[in-house]
Amino acid sequence: MTTTSIAPLTGTQRVLAVRTESWREHVDALGPAPRLSSDELIRLVDSAGLTGRGGAGFPTARKIAAVAASRRTPVVVGNAMEGEFLSHKDRTLLDQAPHLVLDGLDILGRALGSRRLILATGERIDSTRVRRAAAERPGRLVDVRDLGGGFIGGQESALVSQLNGRAAVPQDPHTPVYVRGIDGRPTLVANAETLAQLALLARFGPDWFRSQGTPDDPGTFLISVSGLTPPSVLEVPRGIRLREVLLQAGVPLERVGAVLLGGYHGTWLRPGTGDVRLCEEDLSPYGASTGAGILHVLSVDSCGLRVSAEIATYLAAQAAGQCGPCVNGMPRMADTLTRLAVPGSDPRLVAEVDRLRGLVIGRGACAHPDGTARFVASTMLVFARHVEAHLRGECHETSVD
Ligand code: SF4
Repeated sequence: MTTTSIAPLTGTQRVLAVRTESWREHVDALGPAPRLSSDELIRLVDSAGLTGRGGAGFPTARKIAAVAASRRTPVVVGNAMEGEFLSHKDRTLLDQAPHLVLDGLDILGRALGSRRLILATGERIDSTRVRRAAAERPGRLVDVRDLGGGFIGGQESALVSQLNGRAAVPQDPHTPVYVRGIDGRPTLVANAETLAQLALLARFGPDWFRSQGTPDDPGTFLISVSGLTPPSVLEVPRGIRLREVLLQAGVPLERVGAVLLGGYHGTWLRPGTGDVRLCEEDLSPYGASTGAGILHVLSVDSCGLRVSAEIATYLAAQAAGQCGPCVNGMPRMADTLTRLAVPGSDPRLVAEVDRLRGLVIGRGACAHPDGTARFVASTMLVFARHVEAHLRGECHETSVD
């Protein structure tokens, strides 16, 4: 295993500490990306405990091992689709440290013997800088592809479908892309931040990686913060307290009405949960996760029901329309929530939201209906007092987020 002799980055700023635009600058600052065999890479990633930073939090070593086990030459895809409207981290990474993301692709490609490396960028990303970076690198070419697909465009099988020249719709969940993906080949899809984390882990090793975060949830992660403060992207250790992230982002704590953690498929948390640590262990009792690293703050004088109804309506419109829950259940659920968000609404709408939520769960070919149902469930729980006020014909909203 080749390791770099350059001093590791200390502190919580790791991937965001790298600001190297040209290839020469990048190699001078960090040394070349190490070349590892697939066994070496799997062992390294496994002992570091790196998990995917795209939302699902799946152990990266298991994903690599699944592709490495195939007899066919795989394709490696970097996922910078950033379909989550509230996320800004892929854009930030590709602007600030494009070579770090490309290093991650290169390390995976070499270890897996892949001849085809693709970086997929979504419609909100300007790929100019990463294209320039890819063109100046020696060795294997990275094919940078600008794609569409909206909110679900970054879902693994929808992304692969689009790269295969078809619509950006999720595919049969029984045939994962690591078995049959691009052109029928086993395909490893890794989020842009996962690639950047991997590029540093391969250089500095698992002990360095684990020196931040918790033993069960190690490392740092990027979090896009918005609401009550200009949008920003922070890098923080796994397990940091929610309150600390809000303070770092400059959010006035006394103005926080609720926070949405994990994006539009995420979970609302009350302001009283400021002591919760952002790691699996503390978040699972709330049914929450950091997802793709998104924190949206709602002000105390906003109506959580109205905001949630708008999000549910957006999510219903993003569905690919090929399964029952997306064609029928989600639009009706969003419509019912919207009617409930009007002061003086019919009390029977509360039970109807609940009924429709139960109808969409587990019925789609992808997790879109389940994620939307989870979001709606947390809306009804966290904003229960808003619901009661609306049924009485009142709403305390004084500002619009
Ligand atoms: S559940 Fe919805 S978004 Fe998912 S595949 Fe079916 S129609 Fe598409």
